[in-house]
Amino acid sequence: MKATIDSPTVLIVEDEPSQIEVLDYNLAAEGYAVIKAMDGDEAILLAEEQLPDLILLDWMLPSVSGIEVCRRLRKMPATKAIPIIMLTARSEEGDRVRGLDTGADDYVVKPYAVKELLARINALLRRTSPGKVGQILQYRDIRLDPENHKATRGDKALKLGPTEFRLLTTFLEKPGRVWSREQLLDRVWGRDIEVDFRTVDVHVGRLRKNLTAGGGDDPIRTVRGMGYALDDA
Ligand code: CA
Repeated sequence: MKATIDSPTVLIVEDEPSQIEVLDYNLAAEGYAVIKAMDGDEAILLAEEQLPDLILLDWMLPSVSGIEVCRRLRKMPATKAIPIIMLTARSEEGDRVRGLDTGADDYVVKPYAVKELLARINALLRRTSPGKVGQILQYRDIRLDPENHKATRGDKALKLGPTEFRLLTTFLEKPGRVWSREQLLDRVWGRDIEVDFRTVDVHVGRLRKNLTAGGGDDPIRTVRGMGYALDDA
């Protein structure tokens, strides 16, 4: 496949030339347009300038670390919604959590199988690109604008992390529908990714907290033995 003007653009942030070469080759073969940065400062500049559809971000970078790059990208309005996959040689659970807390959407441990990484990229883009259609979703006083990555309740802006944003998008697409944890995993995290059900509960909990922070009632119903629904039944 050849990259065209409509091809999703992936920004590779990596300081090891051999890694860049492998990623570049495989992503281009899948039809992605590829841009590359070899350090954190360049990554932030390129992300702001070119607004890639996804960023592969190495954790260990010279000068500005991958974690710091992630943190800064999440703070800037233009780049805060760009999906990020962290690449790292560290495998400790604590670091994994730290990476996700910083705002990365996914985390791949080196050495990785290129096939698996591509599957994760595809899954993440499938989940994030429907948001480009730009249709406003609404349920009662909750509104979500996928194109501008904005969600509000009443007249208050909701400060949602990328996962909570996708969760809310899913709920708003079909208010009243009961979603099992497994279905939410598929829709929000992607089929190819190993996440346990407790993670779903944690993120639904965060979404609830966000939605009710301004004082409104809790619009998410827990359906025992089933999952969750957006409604007040
Ligand atoms: Ca590195």
